[in-house]
Parts: sequence; structure tokens; C-alpha cells
Amino acid sequence: MSHESKYLLTEADLPHQWYNVLADLPFPLDPPLHPGTMQPLGPADLAPLFPMDLILQEVSQERHIDIPEAVRDIYRLWRPTPLYRARRWEKALDTPAKIYYKYEGVSPSGSHKPNTAVPQAYYNKLAGTKRLATETGAGQWGSSLAFACQVFGLECKVYMVKVSYEGKPYRRIMMETYGASVVPSPSPDTAAGRAALAETPDSPGSLGLAISEAVEDAVMRDDTHYSLGSVLNHVLLHQTVIGQEVIKQLDMADADPDMLVGCVGGGSNFGGFALPFIPDQLKGRKRQIIAVEPAAAPSMTQGKYAYDYGDTARMAPIVKMHTLGHDFMPAPIHAGGLRYHGMAPIISALYEHGLIEARAVAQRAIFEAAISFARSEGIIPAPEAAHAISVVLDEAARCKEAGETKTIVFNLSGHGHFDLVSYDRYLSGQMRDFAYPTESIEASLARLPQV
Ligand SMILES: *Cc1c(COP(=O)(O)O)cnc(C)c1O
Repeated sequence: MSHESKYLLTEADLPHQWYNVLADLPFPLDPPLHPGTMQPLGPADLAPLFPMDLILQEVSQERHIDIPEAVRDIYRLWRPTPLYRARRWEKALDTPAKIYYKYEGVSPSGSHKPNTAVPQAYYNKLAGTKRLATETGAGQWGSSLAFACQVFGLECKVYMVKVSYEGKPYRRIMMETYGASVVPSPSPDTAAGRAALAETPDSPGSLGLAISEAVEDAVMRDDTHYSLGSVLNHVLLHQTVIGQEVIKQLDMADADPDMLVGCVGGGSNFGGFALPFIPDQLKGRKRQIIAVEPAAAPSMTQGKYAYDYGDTARMAPIVKMHTLGHDFMPAPIHAGGLRYHGMAPIISALYEHGLIEARAVAQRAIFEAAISFARSEGIIPAPEAAHAISVVLDEAARCKEAGETKTIVFNLSGHGHFDLVSYDRYLSGQMRDFAYPTESIEASLARLPQV
């Protein structure tokens, strides 16, 4: 009998390649369209935004893509990350389920996001880019890119959604510590920001609007490219180091999962965790693979599978995805990283074809689950990651009821050390759930582009 609590790989086990699920999907993805012409995008359309290496990865059909040594070298600062067996939590829940979690909170910024920030900065450096512009919601992506830019000597400009800029100063300070310059969005620095400020001077901002500002910044300057922390194919590709490590670690634990669970905002941590299991799924080793989203921004469970703009100002490409509409404004839930209106095209297609499931959970339930987890395992999860934990909690209870010994693995995408005010709200009884946004979803879906 083994009583191990964690399964550790050595640096030699760090993957040498990313896994590209597009090589294995039995169906093609619908092509992204140009937001102006509504014609399929070519590499030249993306060239003002991304270096060619990333554009080629975005459309690649190669099953494996080599991770450059310079990137592996930076990954080694925190990778491989640990896989834990949640023995103490299992006991507290009195469940026969076996629960494992992959912990991405050990990275410099405390989440999975540097897995893609580092290669994105690297390929830009290689292409001669001097400066990257990006948006950030709660600040996890901005702090990850700020770190990666510092590593490769690039300037970094971050448009941070104004409510977060004002309400979450610690992430801003972290970005500035890594050397980035941060402005609240809407900002006076771009036409999109000035237009928003003219219309609503005290606008709290939104992720869609901040994306518009960063894209405009990159398009207007020759020395600057744009960088996106989720949704795109190349972002999910970079994140597959997570799932590849998990497969090795489950092997060490002699465990074969019945269920894989991850939270979804734009779909990148879930994709990175789950995509390496898709070949099994296609070969008939069927597992329950569950994407968990917030009930306040339920793009998969309530949205439409349709072409939509990636951003509010309709400057970003139009992609086929599960969407709530590009101008959908989600309620101000505490899991800021899960408020995007759409879902990664790869994740959307997997869902549409029945290869994965989706569930939506309300925010009080996720904090209840997070606190139960923290009191057994010690780690205080990011509110985003707590969405996965909430579903695992439900499933562990179901196993107890049915007397089933399922093996459940989830991705703990990050820690919640910068989210303690949200925990305070919950613990002091001030947190509320938001009414289901049925009407606003209907209204924004009525404004989908006609393609
Ligand atoms: C950003 C973030 C998410 C959501 O983004 P995805 O692209 O869906 O992974 C989830 N968890 C944490 C900790 C994050 O920082």
C-alpha cells in the first residue's frame, strides 16, 4: 500500500514537445474570419499582431511541436509541477472516490498562464519585436506576460480592466515589479478607450474592451505585437505541458482516471490539462471530461455555437465558438478570469461533438468547495480553480452515495493569494449569487455577426 501524497517528476521529464490536438480531431475547425471582410483569415492578416512562428502554430496540423530549449530552460524554474493525491480531503469528505489534482500554482505568477506567456515572449523576441501589448482582467495574465517579457528583455504594456485596476492593486504592483507599464482600461491611450470614456466616463471596463485597446496599440505601432493569454489554438498548444506531465504522474501513481475536471474561462488551462487525453477518447477509452464555467458567464451551457467577434470593438478575428455575444457584460463575479464571453474554438468543437461535457456553477458554491479543500489540503485555490473543485466535491458525494470508487483528477490552475478579499466577502456572509442572465444573453446573442 502506498501512502504517497504527491507524485514528482524530475526536470528530465519535462516534455520536449507540445501536443497539437488538431492533428487528431476527426473533424475540421471552421476557419477564423477577418472582422472587416468576413472572409477567411490568412497569415498576412495576423502578421500585425503575432510573429510568424505563432501564426504557423495557430494553423499547424503537426501532432507534436518541439519546445525550444530556451523555453524549456525557463519552464525549469517551476516545472514539472506536482500532482497530488488529495488523501486528507478524501477522508474529510468520507468518499470512496480517489481524488488527484495537478497544481499549477507553483509558477512565478501563481497560475498556469506563464506556460504560454514564456513561449509567446520568446517567439516575439526571435522575430525582433521590441514591445508586447496585452489586456488583463484580474491581473493573472498581465503578471504572467510581464514576467515573460522581463525574461526576454521586451517592454510590456498592459491594459487592465478598470474595476480590477482599482480593486486589485496587488496584481498591478506585481506587473510593475516585473517591469511592465499598466494603465486602467478604458484608457485615453487608444481610440477605442477614448470612445468608451466619451460615452461612459466612469465605465468599469470589460475584458472585451481591454482587448480592443491592446489590439489597437499593436496595430498602430511597428515595434509592438499583441499577446493573448487564452482562447487561441497556439495558447492551448503551449498549455499541453500540463496534461502530458499528468499522464506520466498518473502512471507513477498507477492510476487510470474515470473523470477529468477543469475550470474554463477562455479554455486554456482546461485544454492544456485535458487535450493530451483526447486521443484515448477518440480510440474508445471514454472518460468523463468536464469543463466547469461560472453560471454568470455560461458560454458553453447557455451560449450559442456560432461565429462571433473576439472583442467588444469588433477588431479581433471572428471565430466559431460557444459565445454569449461579443457585447455580453457578465456580472462582477469574483472569478474574474472566467468572465470572457466566448470559449476557445477547440474546446467549443470538442463540446459540440460530444467529446467533453460542461457544467455551470454559482459563486457561493465554489467558495464553499474551495474552503472545504483548503481546510484539508492547505492550498487556498484561485476562485477560478474553485469551479473545478466544486464539481469534484459534488462528484465525490455522488460516489459516496453510490458506493463507487471513481478516480477523479482535476486541474488546480492557480492559488488564491491575491483573492483573499473575495474569501473575506464569502466568510463574512456578504457574497451573493447573481440571477441567471437569461435576458442579457438573449439580447447580446441577437447582435451576433451575420456571416
Ligand atoms: C486565467 C485563469 C483561468 C481562466 O483562463 P483559462 O484560459 O480558461 O484557463 C483559470 N484559472 C486561473 C488560476 C487563471 O489565472
